[in-house]
Amino acid sequence: MTLLDMTSLDTTWLVTFLGALGTKALAQIPWALGLAAFFTILSLFPNQACNPNKPWWRNPGLLTDTHYLFFIPIFMPYARTLMVVALVVVLQSVVSQDNILDLLNKSSGPLGKLPFWAQAVVYVLGSDFILYWIHRRFHSMHLWPFHAVHHSAEHVDWTTSYRNHPVNSLFGIGFTQFIMIALGVSPAIVLAMVPFDLVSAAWVHSNLNWTLGPLKYVIAGPVFHRWHHGPPDLGGEKNFAPTFSFWDVLFGTFYMPEGKLPEEYGVDDPNFPKDFFGQIIVPFRQFFAIVSGGKHKAEGQPLPEPQPRSVAAE
Ligand SMILES: [Zn+2]
Ligand SMILES: [Zn+2]
Repeated sequence: MTLLDMTSLDTTWLVTFLGALGTKALAQIPWALGLAAFFTILSLFPNQACNPNKPWWRNPGLLTDTHYLFFIPIFMPYARTLMVVALVVVLQSVVSQDNILDLLNKSSGPLGKLPFWAQAVVYVLGSDFILYWIHRRFHSMHLWPFHAVHHSAEHVDWTTSYRNHPVNSLFGIGFTQFIMIALGVSPAIVLAMVPFDLVSAAWVHSNLNWTLGPLKYVIAGPVFHRWHHGPPDLGGEKNFAPTFSFWDVLFGTFYMPEGKLPEEYGVDDPNFPKDFFGQIIVPFRQFFAIVSGGKHKAEGQPLPEPQPRSVAAE
């Protein structure tokens, strides 16, 4: 009996969809390599690179990034399945089984009535809005250990876009996709946007000094997102939007000082693990230490909002 069977729902559609999502993710590896070549060539021009002294091949965390590049696309479809099962089990206790099936299986949510192209627009904007707020939540004390993994990159480059803790990915993009499908967006759109998500993530992490001029207030670009990887007082608690920087303008978290470029990246916890397996395990330990009220001084502890990223100096 599989986990999905345990929910006693007809989840054939769901399994097919999650399988397709996994296959699509794996099919992105050649794409990812192509993008790598493209951004590498661009950043070779000293007048184009944001940090010319930090090319990706001199990145001390390259081995860790490589682990994420290969492990996460393989692991994530299973993790997503588990999350959907968990959500369905929770939903079953509050709504009837038929309602859940209606919601998930037949795209009968309110957005399902819109034409395909309109659903695509709503998906792109809506998922970005949801991801903006989820990203902000991941900067809060409880969730920070999982998100710190992404911020632990000391050299930010296209390789950094894969450095995400599975919990962060699940409750970030995974949860957002679930919400959008539940609202009626066609799963075909979610699948079609997988390459867009990949390109967008590689683009904002690329080592380029492109500020995008006045477009910086609309679209997240390399300099915009590189500030987000900086120290908390230098943009590290700003610029949360994945694709559309206007969310940050709208919610007062936009940060791009005129005439300056970000230089410093990483977390302010010297004991945060640098290796892949440490980064997968330690956030769980830190999370449980925080929820149980315990301190973990040796590993540093973020302060409560609004400055969750500053490590307690005690
Ligand atoms: Zn962040
Ligand atoms: Zn990033």
